Formats: sequence, C-alpha cells, structure tokens
Amino acid sequence: MRILFATSEMHPLIKTGGLADVSASLPAALQALGQDVRVLLPGYTQVLDALKSKKVVATFKPFEDQAEVRLLSAKMPVTGVPLYVLDAPHYYCRVAGPYQYHLGGDWPDNPMRFGLLSRVAAMLGSSSSPVNWQAELMHCNDWQTGLVPAYLHLEQEPHAKTVMAIHNIAFQGNFDHEWAKHLHLPQSLYHMHGVEFHGHLSFLKAGLQYADRIVTVSPTYAHEIQATEMGYGMQGLLTVRSAQVSGILNGIDEDEWNPATDPHLSAHYDEQDLSGKAQVKQALQQRLGLEVDAQAPLLGVVSRLTYQKGLDLLLECLPILLDSGAQLAVLGSGDAEFERRYQLLAQRYAGRVSVTTRFDEPLSHQIMAGADIFLMPSRFEPCGLNQMYGMRYGTPPVVRRTGGLADSVTNASLDGGTGFVFDDPGVAALQQTIKWAIECYRDAPAFRRIQLNGMKKDVSWRHSAQLYLELYKASMAKQDQ
Ligand code: ADP
Repeated sequence: MRILFATSEMHPLIKTGGLADVSASLPAALQALGQDVRVLLPGYTQVLDALKSKKVVATFKPFEDQAEVRLLSAKMPVTGVPLYVLDAPHYYCRVAGPYQYHLGGDWPDNPMRFGLLSRVAAMLGSSSSPVNWQAELMHCNDWQTGLVPAYLHLEQEPHAKTVMAIHNIAFQGNFDHEWAKHLHLPQSLYHMHGVEFHGHLSFLKAGLQYADRIVTVSPTYAHEIQATEMGYGMQGLLTVRSAQVSGILNGIDEDEWNPATDPHLSAHYDEQDLSGKAQVKQALQQRLGLEVDAQAPLLGVVSRLTYQKGLDLLLECLPILLDSGAQLAVLGSGDAEFERRYQLLAQRYAGRVSVTTRFDEPLSHQIMAGADIFLMPSRFEPCGLNQMYGMRYGTPPVVRRTGGLADSVTNASLDGGTGFVFDDPGVAALQQTIKWAIECYRDAPAFRRIQLNGMKKDVSWRHSAQLYLELYKASMAKQDQ
C-alpha cells in the first residue's frame, strides 16, 4: 500500500511531544510490514540541518498566487523510512519551535504554514502529485494536517483515502475565518457541516468532517471524546460519525527506549538483572544535586507542565511526601506559572527536589531509568508514552485511569499489575496513591514483581501497526467509496 504519513514533527529531527515519537516509530513499523510508507514534514531549520543527504525532487506552486516551494527527498537515519521535506524557508526556517516563538506565543501565520503542509500532502494523494508517486492512503496527524481531507474532497476522484488521527483533541487549529480565502478553501465548505466551527475556520474539524476514517491513540480516549466534555466541542460531530471512529493504542520504539542498550545511561540493566538501575539512580542524584541516597524513593516527572497533565494537583500533595523522605526529579516546560511554582519547590527542598525546565532528551531517559516511581496524574491523556517508557525501564507509573493510561497500565492490586492507578482527579486520591506506591517500593519483593510485570509487557508497535493496516484497508474498501 502506498501510504503518506503527514506530520508536523518527527523524532529525532524535531520534537515537542508524543506525536514526534509516533511519527518516527509507526511508519518504521509499517515499513517492516512491507508497506511503501513515506513521511511528509515541514523543512524546519532543524530538519534541514539534521538531514545530510537530500535532493530536490520537485519545484512547484501549491497555491497559484503564492511563492514556489520545493519538495526534497531524503531518508530517515537508522530506519531508512523515505521522507518528503517541504522546503519553504519563508514559513519554516525560523529560530525557535515548530509552532511557537521563544516567548511562547504561536507564530501568527500558523494557518498558512500548516495549510501549506496540508495542501502539499493532498497533492501527493491526487493526480496533481508533483512527484512520480501518488499515495493511496493518507494518514493525517492532528490539526496541522487537518485540512488534507478537505483539500482532497475538492479534488477529482480517484484520490487517496484519508485517516484522520487525533493525538490530542484539545488542540484544534481554530483561526479567523479570513484565512480560508488565503488557503483557497471555497465558501461552499464554510458551514457547520464543513470547516466552520463557532465562527472560526477549524483545521481539526475539517479533518474530522471529511476524512474517511477517524482514529485516536487509545480505545478509551476514542470513547471519552465522543461522550463527554473531553471532546472539546467536537463530541457531537464524533458521535454522528461514531461508526468511523476507532482507537488504536500507540506503541513505543523499543530500540530507542531500551534500558539494556540506552546510550544516555551510565549503566545498563534488563529484567534478568536490575542492578544497573541502582547505579543509574545514583548517577542521576549526583547529576541533579540530589542527596545520594539509595533508599530514598525517587519520584520522576517528564512532561509538558500544563493543566492537562495534572501537575498542579501534584504540587499540592508533594510537601507531605517530601517531608516523609521522598525525592523528586522534574523535567518539563510549558505553563510559566507551573514552571515558577516548581522552581520555588526546588528552592525550598534543596537536595530533595530538582526541577529542570527545558527540553532535554538525554535527561528524560536518565529520569525514566533512575527514578523509582514515575508520576503521570493527567486529567486527560489521549495515549501517553511516558507511562510505557516507565514500565519498560522498571519504573512503575502512578497514573489516573483515563485515556491511554487506562488502556496501558494495570493496577498493582491486580495479578500482573504494572503500576498504581487512581480515579478521582483530586489531590487526596493522588496523594494516597503515591503513598501506596512508596509503601510498595519499601516492600522490595512486591515492588520487584510490579517492575518485572511492566518490563515484560509488550508495548511495541507489533500489534498496533497491524491494526493500522487493517484500518487503512477498511477505509479503502469499496463500501466506503
Ligand atoms: P504529550 O505528547 O502530551 O506531551 P506524551 O507522553 O505522549 O505526552 O509524550 C511526551 C514525549 O515528550 C515523551 O517522549 C517525553 O519523554 C517527551 N518530553 C516531554 N517533555 C520533555 C522534556 N522537557 N524534555 C525531554 N523530553 C520531553
């Protein structure tokens, strides 16, 4: 099957969150299943710099009245997955992040930047493809590629079938309706059964409306976004399209996240011999300026610091846990107020709390391995990858029963449990569950069983990549045309 995976980030080229990890690992898993899968992503400065060998395969105008762009072809290092890089320096070659400038504001021309990406993806799936290859199936990811199904809807058949993947429905790409003109979206699509959402042009809604299938990153989240306010206003549309909505749990890249070989760690370990984990913990305590104490339960957090992730709840229950001997290592950035409050905590508990507010890939691996317990008290979590990394690294996670956390972590109270699960999104439940995890940590044989259950759990892409393939086939089947 000729599949185009259109995405706005891809590890290790450019990453702000889980989408980047999925964009690297799912196409590689599909390629291993024998599919002709190619990835389209914007030519950000970081991407152009990282890809040493690339060649121009097309120069063209996606929008008649706008500048020419180039399509470059390259291959992913390690996996060899073919890439199409959209080279439009006026949009993508900027210092700072893919969506935001340094002070944290969104780039004001994001509708054009990602409208262009969507337009070029749609061309690659239609007879106007600028290269000698045309996708049969388009896998779109989040609002940044939400206009692809709308553009394809305007193209003459035959064109690619579309799967719209929701990684987080809270991010919708809703913009002033004036942008529709610049993006060449005809007025005929601008209505409540089209791309209009409460008086705005909505990229995500366009995708949900016009895609052949809608998928999200866990079965529980697929239900949650149809039934409750977790749909962020899209629940009505999703309920109407419910027969085309499904959830497939993300997998992880087992080579990238492997405690036996991880190049970011100073010692290695596996489920036969966990002794290296104690060395990694010691190195982490030293690196972060924490008291070197093998017995102190070390709690880890690697996360965007936002309300979604429940990290305000954590702030409230930490003092009592820290006073009773726990340590905390936080790596994360995001909400300025959260950053400030976590930094204050680190000052107050010098030697017991470390807070690093930047993006740091090696440190994220070191915390995952060196911590004893991983904390992820998300209010909602479409899938979440860190809890899976935690389980694989023998660092059982404390999670709220929501979305992909509910689908991937089983409670320690059950046979084969891999973590500590709570329901109520409140301080008391979180505090009680962390306390329980710490008590369990102090009961070495019981804790070892939970660690091993997690380390042995299959969190790879093997099963889920197969499910995606079935979904692609279903969306291409005759009855859907
Ligand atoms: P989300 O995509 O909602 O941010 P996920 O758990 O799905 O959450 O994925 C987050 C990814 O980003 C993980 O790979 C995690 O390790 C990584 N990550 C988050 N914050 C940081 C950070 N400050 N430094 C390094 N990696 C981070």
